[in-house]
Amino acid sequence: MSEVINFNKDQNLDRSIVLALERVSQVFRTLLWDYGKQIKLSPIQIQFLVHISAHSKKYSSVSEMARTFNLTAATVSDAIKSLERKGLVQKIVSRRDGRKFPISLTKEGLSMANHLSNWYSPLMEHIQNFPSESREAVFIFLLKLIESLKENRLLEEIKTCLSCRYLAEKSDSKNKQNSYCLLRKVPLNISELRLNCPNFNAATV
Ligand code: SF4
Repeated sequence: MSEVINFNKDQNLDRSIVLALERVSQVFRTLLWDYGKQIKLSPIQIQFLVHISAHSKKYSSVSEMARTFNLTAATVSDAIKSLERKGLVQKIVSRRDGRKFPISLTKEGLSMANHLSNWYSPLMEHIQNFPSESREAVFIFLLKLIESLKENRLLEEIKTCLSCRYLAEKSDSKNKQNSYCLLRKVPLNISELRLNCPNFNAATV
């Protein structure tokens, strides 16, 4: 006889959140595949182009991308070689010893990367229909979930403001505490908190 698992109210909610995230990720995968077919790139090639265009050279080596996307170096290397053959990326050669290091976009790759956000625009059209308070609450929840997953090594190398050493709290003229970036010297509203900041520097625990 199969065992019946009884969840309490909180566990039911948690389980429903996990299932809902899984359903949304299905939409994410479908959109990425469909868009990739149109432009003749695989989903991972699209994600690499977006990553390289959004990060400094330091984070664009094969080993860094393998860590970020939780893939083997061989898998990343194969995808990069394919992008190289398509003329979209190039390896940067060290002037000192001739070794090849980070990967940069070619002119064609940059132009392609500038249009790649089109793949998620159908999802954006739905998200923007919700009130800003709901979207902000969801964003904060997701940022905190990402940080929790990162602490437990289920996610790697996500550079969010929440774990950056430059994040500070400052009082405004009405004595309200607001987030502030000490490096860029700007206040950070919820919508300005970053997920993959090129200036991220991990806070020491
Ligand atoms: S440097 Fe980037 S990640 Fe760090 S607090 Fe400023 S905006 Fe956020």
